[in-house]
Amino acid sequence: MVTGGWYTCPCCRRRLIKIGRTSTMYRVPVYCRACKSEWFPAIWNGRELEAGKPFPLTGEKIS
Ligand SMILES: [Zn+2]
Repeated sequence: MVTGGWYTCPCCRRRLIKIGRTSTMYRVPVYCRACKSEWFPAIWNGRELEAGKPFPLTGEKIS
């Protein structure tokens, strides 16, 4: 999830990467060292998009 301008680990809530109001990212692995897990957030203009929705740039469904 994105909170306070950061993408936070869905598992432990640690701040993983800073997200600006116009930030967009997709299919970028973001690693949490605490959980030893990789996450693939779908961020569009600073907001996280839900799984199953199309990603605006590609129209591809978010997994
Ligand atoms: Zn974590």
